[in-house]
Amino acid sequence: MQTLHLTEHDAARAGDILRHGGLVAFPTETVYGLGANAFDADAVRRIFEAKGRPCDNPLIAHICDLDTLPTLWREIPDTARTLAAAFWPGPLTMILPRTAAVPDALTAGLDTVAVRFPSHPVAQAVIRAAGVPIAAPSANLSGHPSPTTYEHVLHDLGGRVDAIVEGGMSSVGLESTVVAVEEHRVTVLRPGGISPEMLAVVLDDAEVIIDPGVTCPVESAPRSPGMKYRHYAPLAPMTAFTGDPDRTAAAIREKIGMRTDCAALLFDEYDAPCSVVHYGRRADSLAQAHRLFDALRKLDDLAPTEIFAQCPDETGVGLAVANRIKRAAGFHVVNVP
Ligand code: AMP
Ligand code: MG
Repeated sequence: MQTLHLTEHDAARAGDILRHGGLVAFPTETVYGLGANAFDADAVRRIFEAKGRPCDNPLIAHICDLDTLPTLWREIPDTARTLAAAFWPGPLTMILPRTAAVPDALTAGLDTVAVRFPSHPVAQAVIRAAGVPIAAPSANLSGHPSPTTYEHVLHDLGGRVDAIVEGGMSSVGLESTVVAVEEHRVTVLRPGGISPEMLAVVLDDAEVIIDPGVTCPVESAPRSPGMKYRHYAPLAPMTAFTGDPDRTAAAIREKIGMRTDCAALLFDEYDAPCSVVHYGRRADSLAQAHRLFDALRKLDDLAPTEIFAQCPDETGVGLAVANRIKRAAGFHVVNVP
């Protein structure tokens, strides 16, 4: 298949392809998404094929106005309205019971559907041009780091999708915060650019809970099917070091010793006697989020035999950065006292 290269001026063309059942990757503020008409079960199934994604892992429907919500959700509780008013358009995904119009292929047969209203102007233009909600998981091959640039998408999906819209580097750099919404409870199933602290600030009437699967590996039936898959895996085995950054840097240097065949993923302030990829200053979790996935791809390019990574503490957006690093390490974590 020939993959068309589109730009931000080609939203109408992208919308046409989507309306006719095709696959179009496009930029969003979180990461690049691989889009298909969310109401077209065949088009949605094509997403799973192109990505090699397990079909029991449901997709997020993307909208460009609130009027579309009643076609996707049966009811919209006040808690969801409050969160939408505070964080949409933006990097927050909400899960609520779905309508009969939503195909099983999208939700992997679940009775709920995940919805997001992205803020990226190109994403909004593409969804508007399509005229339907757009199913869009991250536009990477399943198991690879999510794509934050056009080049990442081309590398993974060139020849496998109808078109890719180029639109710069994703600003947030990590996938959206995913929450299950109930009347008096909001459960974070995947941390992202909207931290649990930010959610709690706007909710008077509902508690914010972090699902245990966010910080620890899950065994049997997780609340979010995506939790059970290894994600963002670099090719080499990776170990994540948590604790005070001065100490984790020292522990990583000690671990490396004289070895030159390994690589380190470090905050900008630190170095090590092997290949090093930096991903932001130690106290700047927004920069770390923005750069992490590109850093993981750079680590693959270096082809090390083993990777040692500094992991930030889990406050604010650090929770999301730490979650992605721990998952990339297959939850192989060393806590440095
Ligand atoms: P991605 O499409 O790669 O951004 O991943 C979407 C994430 O949201 C995955 O971890 C899914 O398992 C999760 N998700 C999507 N829809 C639902 C749902 N209805 N219930 C629970 N988790 C969901
Ligand atoms: Mg993904």
